Amino acid sequence: MEAIQEFLANILPLVRLGAIFLGAYAVLLWAASVLWTYRDIRRRTEDVSVQVLAVSLVLLLPFLGIPLHLILRPPQTLAEKYERALEEEFLRRDLEEQFVCPECQRPIESDFILCPHCHTQLRRRCDSCHKVIDLTWRICPYCGHSYTGGVPTVRAEAYPAVPPVGVSRQ
Ligand SMILES: [Zn+2]
Ligand SMILES: [Zn+2]
Repeated sequence: MEAIQEFLANILPLVRLGAIFLGAYAVLLWAASVLWTYRDIRRRTEDVSVQVLAVSLVLLLPFLGIPLHLILRPPQTLAEKYERALEEEFLRRDLEEQFVCPECQRPIESDFILCPHCHTQLRRRCDSCHKVIDLTWRICPYCGHSYTGGVPTVRAEAYPAVPPVGVSRQ
């Protein structure tokens, strides 16, 4: 019996020390979690009331507030949101800049001579250098050939858009 009492008397200060250490660690962890929450919520919203709410949640509910904050916080950071908005803007612009046939409104490539859907003439080839030029140009910007007698109304079918592979144009 005496031996047990002596053992307890010896171990009690150690237990107390351990408890103090654990308590101090828990307080530090709690303070760190509040700081982390403050930084995290500031990256996710500029709304001060939401920031105050998140920080006080973690401050007033040590450790229990963190999972709540993780569930309730805005899913995207402001940087991610900004990036997403930029991406969407670029996508939208890409779509807007797609060429469409003026006749049938279906998508075409910028260098098409004919609309493949409705066969409307979009551009023509220069009589002299055979480069693709605008229907309204009165002079070829590539070779200088001028169309003084008005723009010829030759159908573009007369010129193959893509010469067959392996056959050189004469
Ligand atoms: Zn068309
Ligand atoms: Zn030309």
